[in-house]
Amino acid sequence: MAPPSDIQELIRENHLPPRILLGPGPSLCDPRVLQAMAAPLLGHLDPAYLKLMDHIQELLRYVFRTQNRLTLPISGTGSAAMEAAIANLVEPGDAVLICVNGYFSQRQAEMARRYGGQVREIYRSWGEIFTLEDVTRALDEGPAKIVCLVQAETSTGVLQPVAEIAKLVHRQGGLLIVDAVTSLGGIPLEVDEWELDIVYSCSQKCLGCPPGLGPITFGPRAEAVLHNRRTKVANWYLDMALLEKYWGPERVYHHTAPITMNYALLEGLRIVAEEGIQNRWERHRRNAQLFWDGLSDLGLVCHAPLEYRLPSLTTVRVPEGVDEAAVRRHLLDTYHIEIGGGLGELKGKVWRVGLMGYSSQPENVILLLEALRREIG
Ligand SMILES: *Cc1c(COP(=O)(O)O)cnc(C)c1O
Repeated sequence: MAPPSDIQELIRENHLPPRILLGPGPSLCDPRVLQAMAAPLLGHLDPAYLKLMDHIQELLRYVFRTQNRLTLPISGTGSAAMEAAIANLVEPGDAVLICVNGYFSQRQAEMARRYGGQVREIYRSWGEIFTLEDVTRALDEGPAKIVCLVQAETSTGVLQPVAEIAKLVHRQGGLLIVDAVTSLGGIPLEVDEWELDIVYSCSQKCLGCPPGLGPITFGPRAEAVLHNRRTKVANWYLDMALLEKYWGPERVYHHTAPITMNYALLEGLRIVAEEGIQNRWERHRRNAQLFWDGLSDLGLVCHAPLEYRLPSLTTVRVPEGVDEAAVRRHLLDTYHIEIGGGLGELKGKVWRVGLMGYSSQPENVILLLEALRREIG
């Protein structure tokens, strides 16, 4: 048979290139997750589907490490969950402090401005963290109702400590929104213990599912703010009060849930629970260490310092004289390995390597290291 030519044929015949996804996302899916997506459709109010929804919420609480009632997957990617966090908390005129040290905190600021927030930004260069002192100083200069932080900055490879900052924000009467898009299910995250008010994520990074859902959780302080809003949430689709009526006991239709995506998420979460969340954090850390050790043997340098380097995503400095885009292209064409290029300030300066979810396996690390050795060695 002739090789299939067009994309429809490629998909139907399952002849798409067998990529090893080691970029900033999406990551690889466990075959069990893909299989779950082939299950027959149910209606979004079918009692059998409603039962699956309950399981999803229960398992999301497990991975978020929370008892928060208001915990559910937004129908949309991580950015939709980010927007849900901001749209529901920020009212026109609210003081919002955004800690900008990378691409995704800039996006938080952009969204907060669109919802009428009085946005103030503090800055660190791309590759640094915010210290407790940085945030203390900013809040001393002027209080904020809402503070936004990115725990795992996928653009810089930095892991931002958030627990102490949450306590500080609360002492000042504010709430903390945390972006855990590249951390949930891969890096230690303790929503209740660290008293985080809103935390959001996505399906396609450390949870190892396809893109399309954005898990989010609202703690008691955030719920209280929702109930005391002066204005309606300006975004109808992401209004948590409406979503809660569908995900809670009332089961009121809001939008047609992406049923198949939710099958995938449920299976992905079941896999996390089988592995055990702490074991999963440990696996991500171990495979990252294997990668970092191998990079150093190759003479390659990580952009983020070891003290706050992110296990799920490593930024590798492109050596002098190397065409970074050509290397990425060659890795894809020759070894089927996808890695990412730099974003924003780091464009052209780093490669971004994700070891997330099902992609975080020693054989992938070893293959990538050997491929890099051949490319630049
Ligand atoms: C990927 C990512 C997002 C955006 O998620 P999408 O699923 O691409 O919409 C937001 N924040 C961080 C830190 C990310 O890595």
